[in-house]
Amino acid sequence: MIPFLKPDIIYEKDDVTVITVQDLKSLNVNALILDLDNTIMAPKAAKLDPHIEEWLIEMKKHFKLIVLSNNRKKHYIDKVQKVLDFPILGSAEKPWPVGIKKAMEILNESHEKIAVIGDRPLTDIWLAHMYGFKSVLVRALTAHTEPRWKFYLRKVEWSFIRR
Ligand SMILES: [Mg+2]
Repeated sequence: MIPFLKPDIIYEKDDVTVITVQDLKSLNVNALILDLDNTIMAPKAAKLDPHIEEWLIEMKKHFKLIVLSNNRKKHYIDKVQKVLDFPILGSAEKPWPVGIKKAMEILNESHEKIAVIGDRPLTDIWLAHMYGFKSVLVRALTAHTEPRWKFYLRKVEWSFIRR
């Protein structure tokens, strides 16, 4: 296990909607930095599944939300912004510091009061460790339908965080 890829909470077999308000309260956070692709939306979908939309509505009652995505396609990010009622920042280059400054300005919370939620150890979780955020790793939304090579790539990445 590589320490900087270890999340505070792991949901290996479930998507983001398994995370409860109580889980996040136990991490003592006030704000969430959400990954986009494969965490709250299937890649290229530009729309929310009803069960995810419901989860976001619930989370919004308790936490400040922002989406931080490495997706570089501005027209796609603009399209996604139209279906979200909280901010989204694209071209973030996680785990590097490019997008995080703006996200921190918007959230206006100290680092330890923020949790990153995402499906990738090497971007989302690493970012959280670099900035002292809490972190939750979830199963990718399309993990069950993706090609074999992607499945194995994910396995390798997840193998870094096994105890
Ligand atoms: Mg992702």
